[in-house]
Amino acid sequence: MSAASIVLGLSPGALKEALLAVGIPQKAAAMRTRQLWNWIYVHGARDFAAMTNLAKDFREAMAARFSLARPDVVTEQVSADGTRKWLLRGEGGQEFETVFIPEPGRGTLCVSSQVGCTLNCRFCHTGTQKLVRNLTAGEIVGQVMAARDALGDWPSTGENRRITNVVMMGMGEPLYNFENVKAALAIVADGDALALSKRRVTLSTAGVVPMIGRAGTEIGSALAISLHAVRDDIRDRLVPLNKKYPLKELLDACRAYPGLSNARRITFEYVMLRGVNDSLAEARELVRRIAGIPAKINLIPFNPWTGAPYECSDWAQIEKFAEIVNRAGYASPVRTPRGRDIMAACGQLKSESVKQRAGERMAQLRSAELARMPS
Ligand code: SAH
Repeated sequence: MSAASIVLGLSPGALKEALLAVGIPQKAAAMRTRQLWNWIYVHGARDFAAMTNLAKDFREAMAARFSLARPDVVTEQVSADGTRKWLLRGEGGQEFETVFIPEPGRGTLCVSSQVGCTLNCRFCHTGTQKLVRNLTAGEIVGQVMAARDALGDWPSTGENRRITNVVMMGMGEPLYNFENVKAALAIVADGDALALSKRRVTLSTAGVVPMIGRAGTEIGSALAISLHAVRDDIRDRLVPLNKKYPLKELLDACRAYPGLSNARRITFEYVMLRGVNDSLAEARELVRRIAGIPAKINLIPFNPWTGAPYECSDWAQIEKFAEIVNRAGYASPVRTPRGRDIMAACGQLKSESVKQRAGERMAQLRSAELARMPS
């Protein structure tokens, strides 16, 4: 076994197997697993030495073989509105972002599922990133751990915990990384681990239809769909995945989502793009198409990024659109843009830190060179 197998992301069963494999006796393994689990996920222990109620030789044996490392924090940025964005570095050096959005009485952590994204939605900055790979289960759950570390938000079961909700709405398509997302969310929702109930966990998909049913039965979180258009020709352009899984199939999969009820509604996200998808006829068509699905509609003002081919709809238009949806009986909150000043808002995530830091180093070298030159 290598010097440090990573523990984050293992299921309780896999952790127990790992203990057995390093010689922990069968009769102690189940209890040791429970104790470690509690230290790691309820108390956020970052090393084995801190686990003071465990025998010293056990702690030393663990420390020699296992690592509790989370993704490294490369940078932290804090928005004027209190939103925080962390750039994290995973195994192999690739970077990804996690965003904390504080609101009165709650705090939402927006978690990434991939480095980059393969979907190429035309209005989304993440889609312009070249590098793509799936995050491991450890890197996904590690985002929640790293955020809790930075916020001093342990124990996870604390009454005044700051992270109360998790949304899989960061970089990547979670249903293209199903097994790792499922493993990570099982730890997030475990009452003896990160302790956020499934109602407080939302998975957002651009519409990977064949995986939606499995998400419901095997993950059981709340579901959000990045709808963004109500006609196939428009959605084909905005969300190219629509060519593979068109609107009718997508909405049928939503109708069949396990556990759907008025208490457990699907959220339809709809980005407001001026002159593209924001007409009042489209608002009425939206209401017609989702009829019968317990739903709420989340209108998202388009968040701009340099070079984006779209503009945000006017506020007056967004309000009129919302009113039609509202009158049809659907809650239609307009999502307040958060963290735009630090490029932390929906669709703005893109890890370009490597490039940026290289640029900074060049600038430093240049100014050092200038300083040496005779004036
Ligand atoms: N791939 C998943 C998870 C990403 S969630 C999905 O598509 O659902 C991120 C949400 O922000 C999606 O609804 C996405 O369509 C939306 N989004 C992307 N770019 C945006 C932008 N520039 N402004 C506002 N919303 C955007």
